[in-house]
Amino acid sequence: KLHNTILELKGNIRVFCRVRPLLPDDGVATEGAIVSYPTSTESLGRGIDLKQSGQKYPFTFDKVFNHEASQQDVFVEISQLVQSALDGYKVCIFAYGQTGSGKTYTMMGRPEIPEQKGLIPRSLEQIFQSSQSLKAQGWKYKMQASMLEIYNETIRDLLSNNRSVGSDPTCPENAIFGKQYTIKHDANGNTYVSDLTIVDVSGITEISSLLRQAAQSRSVGKTQMNEQSSRSHMVFTLRISGTNEHRATSAGSLNLVDLAGSERLSRSGATGDRLKETQAINKSLSCLSDVIFALAKKDDHVPFRNSKLTYLLQPCLGGDSKTLMFVNVSPDPTSVGESLCSLRFAARVN
Ligand code: ADP
Ligand code: MG
Repeated sequence: KLHNTILELKGNIRVFCRVRPLLPDDGVATEGAIVSYPTSTESLGRGIDLKQSGQKYPFTFDKVFNHEASQQDVFVEISQLVQSALDGYKVCIFAYGQTGSGKTYTMMGRPEIPEQKGLIPRSLEQIFQSSQSLKAQGWKYKMQASMLEIYNETIRDLLSNNRSVGSDPTCPENAIFGKQYTIKHDANGNTYVSDLTIVDVSGITEISSLLRQAAQSRSVGKTQMNEQSSRSHMVFTLRISGTNEHRATSAGSLNLVDLAGSERLSRSGATGDRLKETQAINKSLSCLSDVIFALAKKDDHVPFRNSKLTYLLQPCLGGDSKTLMFVNVSPDPTSVGESLCSLRFAARVN
């Protein structure tokens, strides 16, 4: 691999925790912080303590961002990882957490407001700019983006022009348009999803129109628990292939994943179809954790095939790929139980 970026990795998986600020709609903060940071004077540390009914639960992650960390502060810490996709690495970044904890804000943010741009717009801009400057060293890059949603183990294309925004999720368009969206892996470790829209990213104008479309399909907002985006996984993929005049090649990819809300059944008051849906989410999130756990332990058998999400990302999770998981936490006192579950999940993965 050329112009290599060496990252300090514990295995290939790292976990960053991010706590969002308290919002006006949150519960009133009670005496004593629910979430506290040993390094309270800085927005970045490694430890986080969660307090529930007088009990203190300490956690340590690779990094912990407190409520004051800006989108830029967060991006600075992952820009090298993003850059390694240009060097030919396969990179996956996940956002895990309950609905309303800041996953979509972290991943997408508000692309139209410079300070509020999330990881997807910032990564696209950085990769595009770097690819332009590497041209001087004789490298030529081809970049292709796709964006899909996995809802109840069914794939939906988020960049298709045929897609009617807000269409009935129980009647996916693959039924209407006869699309298959079958996941296939080739011998080179690339994944293809049949019928999925692939957008060539060759300039800043394409990037902004892509982001507009992407942001529309996955809006940021303090959700009602039943908003569809909170019940599906969103996978944004940028495939980057590079060639230079000495005929060296690189083929990396960047996968940015906004996971379905991790809240438990009781919280969403699920019955009937909604219950089935929540069970599907829980199952696919636990499949993801099983896969990451098996990879971290270097198990011989990694259960990639147990869910669409892990099967789709299989080539980007094992081997010399790089994985980062954000665990997003809400400081809302009424969410402390969910926050504890999220931190425990992340601690298991870490
Ligand atoms: P999720 O995708 O996990 O359901 P969102 O990203 O939609 O959560 O965040 C919920 C609300 O909190 C949104 O209104 C969002 O703008 C706000 N928010 C989340 N994280 C931050 C942050 N770090 N700074 C400011 N506002 C945030
Ligand atoms: Mg969201």
